[in-house]
Amino acid sequence: MIKTIKINSMNPILIITALSMCLVGCTKLDQRPQVVELENAASKESANQRAGAVSSLVIPAAALIPDLQTVIPQHLQVVNEHQHDLLRFSNGIANTGVGALQFKPEFPLGDNTVGTQNAVQQLLDASGIIVFEETVSEFEYHPEHHHWHIEAVALFEVRKDSPTGSVVGGNSIKTTFCLIDWIKLNDNSNSKERMYFDCFGELQGISPGWVDQYNQAVEGQELDITGVAEGTYYLVSTANPEHTFIETNNNNNTAWVSFDLKRDKQGHPKIFVTGHSSCTGGLCGYSPNR
Ligand SMILES: [Zn+2]
Repeated sequence: MIKTIKINSMNPILIITALSMCLVGCTKLDQRPQVVELENAASKESANQRAGAVSSLVIPAAALIPDLQTVIPQHLQVVNEHQHDLLRFSNGIANTGVGALQFKPEFPLGDNTVGTQNAVQQLLDASGIIVFEETVSEFEYHPEHHHWHIEAVALFEVRKDSPTGSVVGGNSIKTTFCLIDWIKLNDNSNSKERMYFDCFGELQGISPGWVDQYNQAVEGQELDITGVAEGTYYLVSTANPEHTFIETNNNNNTAWVSFDLKRDKQGHPKIFVTGHSSCTGGLCGYSPNR
C-alpha cells in the first residue's frame, strides 16, 4: 500500500506523505434523514447469516448513520504491464452522511499478516457512544498492500455504451480496501480531525465529510482492457456494492466516467474521456486550482 502515514507522537497532527492529491469542494454535507432502507435490512440479514453474527436489526433512533458516495474516478490512463493493457484510475469513497462509517475487527489486528476475521460496523450517537454494532463484512490481510482490508468496499466495472451496458472483458471486480480518512470532501467538513488513519489500528472507517482515496498507481486500481475493440465505454465505480454496510442510501453509491477507446497505428489503445455522472462539489473530483 502506498499511503505512508507518519504519526508524531508528541503532536496529534498527522504528517501525510503520499501520492494523494488534494480533493477540494464546497459540497454541503448531505443531510439525508436517518432512515435505514428496508433493502438494507434485508441484505444485512444475509450478511449476518454468512458471518454468523447475532443482531436484532433494530437501530436506535439516536444512531448517526453514514452515507457512502463515490467520487468521480480520475486520472484514467492505459498502462501496458506484462503484455496487458490496464486501465488505471484513482477512486475515492466519500462519507456524506451525518454518522461515521466505523469498523472494528473482531480481534486486534496487531501484527498479524494472514487470514480473515469479522468486521463489525459500529454506529455512534451524537456524543460518540456506540449505540449499535453488527458484523457486516470481513477484514482480510492484503499481502500486496501489506495491511488489513475490509471486504466488498467497492465494485469496479467497464461497461459498453452505457453505465448499465454489458460488462466488458470480465471487468466486474469487487475490491477490498483499508478504509481511513484521507482527505476532506469539503473545507468546512463537520469532522475537523482525522479519526481513522491506521490500517493496523483498532478501528477503520471514514468520518462524515471525509474521503478515502486510492491513487491510480496502487495495486488493484486497474481493470484489464486487453484486446477490447474501439468504441465507447463506461468505467463504473460503486461503493458498498453488496449493501452490506449500514448507510442511509444505497442508491447514490455509483459514479461513472465515459470514454472512447481508439487504437493507434501500432494497435495501442488510447482513451479519451467524454463525460461523467452528475456530481456536486468534492464528489466531482479534484479542483484544477490545487
Ligand atoms: Zn490497501
